[in-house]
Amino acid sequence: MANGKLHALKMPAWVLRNVGTIQKPGETGWMFKPLPTCGPDDVIGKVIAVAYCTTDISTIDGAMGQRPENLTLGHECLIEIWEKGENVHAFEVGDKAIVPAAQKEMRTCRGLARWDYSNHIDGVFSQNVLVKNADDRLAHLPEKMKYEVGLAIGDVFTTGKTAVDRSMVKPGDTALVVGATRSVGLSTVACLRHGTEVDKIYGVGSSQAGTNLAKKWGADEIIDYNNGPVIQQVKKLTGNNGVDVLINTGAPAPEFAELFNEMLAPGGRARNVGYFNPQKGDTIPLTVTGTLYGMGDKTIGFDLLDGGAEVTQKNLTFVLQNRNKFNLADMFDIHYGPWHIPTMQGQMRKKDTNFIKTAAIIQEGDWDKLSDKLSKEEEQQR
Ligand SMILES: [Zn+2]
Repeated sequence: MANGKLHALKMPAWVLRNVGTIQKPGETGWMFKPLPTCGPDDVIGKVIAVAYCTTDISTIDGAMGQRPENLTLGHECLIEIWEKGENVHAFEVGDKAIVPAAQKEMRTCRGLARWDYSNHIDGVFSQNVLVKNADDRLAHLPEKMKYEVGLAIGDVFTTGKTAVDRSMVKPGDTALVVGATRSVGLSTVACLRHGTEVDKIYGVGSSQAGTNLAKKWGADEIIDYNNGPVIQQVKKLTGNNGVDVLINTGAPAPEFAELFNEMLAPGGRARNVGYFNPQKGDTIPLTVTGTLYGMGDKTIGFDLLDGGAEVTQKNLTFVLQNRNKFNLADMFDIHYGPWHIPTMQGQMRKKDTNFIKTAAIIQEGDWDKLSDKLSKEEEQQR
């Protein structure tokens, strides 16, 4: 009985059944969901590549509390357009596109509404994805661009670029990037080195693969937090002067605050693009002396990546112009087939491994194969 055609009106999706905690992760699994329906400004995409993000892990662990029931996970994908609404003019059926992880504008002030996939609405780990206001949101994937590069531009690269853009880097500034050996931190290093006139870039990280790449892309020194307190190491490197720019892409909130207090020079700018988790006891304890009695000209900001079509297109151009200086594809461990999504989840949870970022490329017929496998399993359970 079971064959792909029976599932023409439903699609496999990797979902969050219930959120968990740091000690006990939430449950995830495959389920069939109805296909989305296309409005006049929207497109329906067939998912052709996905990347797994530590943000998905934080969501599973309940960082932002309860999410909608059986929420489809994932927010990093490329699509091939399958169906389009009558008001969509920039895209045709069959076009390949980058789906940025965030929208252009905060449409409501409630809970990170600019980040919608796998937060308020179903995410992208499914056969088909609905993209609302497609002309405003999507960017064309250049024909020769590797899928993983497009995936990076849709989220991690743009996250690093956003943090750098908001740091107002001045010629000769010294910068410290926390989490520099992971994907957002590496992107931050590349954007600082090739998009600003920064002088020294110091990074904090640990993996060997990430350290090598960070140095190749422009970091002067990587501080390994396993070799002693980060603050002591930064003090030594900067001759006690601290840094002008501090970008946190992954440390818990108290560590970010400590670096702001102790290591950000007067006039310095600090930005955070990491996902803080109150379940880990995250607080942001700024001190009076850390702000130089409230008069240190020090600023601090908390950012979500810029989103939408225009920003994505701009960042895509930046990546193409600098393709001889850094290759975003070097960050990725590639799988083939959507059935690897659970494996990728396991890889991202284990932080001690020596890989940086994981993605799955999905070829013609792969979603049908997965549908067949899942419906056979469903039948056996009946
Ligand atoms: Zn992400």
